[in-house]
Amino acid sequence: MEFPWRPDLCENEEEFAEWQRIWQSMEHRQIPDASVIDPVRYFSYDFGNLVSATVSLAPVQYVKGLYFPVNECPLCYSDASNKDSLPASLNARFERIKALGVFVWVHRDCFEKLPLLQELPPFPA
Ligand SMILES: [Zn+2]
Repeated sequence: MEFPWRPDLCENEEEFAEWQRIWQSMEHRQIPDASVIDPVRYFSYDFGNLVSATVSLAPVQYVKGLYFPVNECPLCYSDASNKDSLPASLNARFERIKALGVFVWVHRDCFEKLPLLQELPPFPA
């Protein structure tokens, strides 16, 4: 069964609840040093100082509907088109903007080196 990837495509409350449950069940990890991220490269705009950043996986069943602006792992800056890459959301917090997300491909190895967060991942914006 295919689920709509965006909340506004959900047809009823059950579908929306399922959409929320799926996104919130994804693994969420902290990027300990947010300065490794070049936000302008991923957000195509300079939002100012990046305060912190996390990475959460994107459900594979939604990948077809998602837009990935850069085909490069934000954690090591190398090509992420190989099969060991995972679809994910890079969640950034800037000094002036609380939360902003962009879809990225991350290498499994790079992702698994990050510390796990107990905090639920944010929903894609
Ligand atoms: Zn990488």
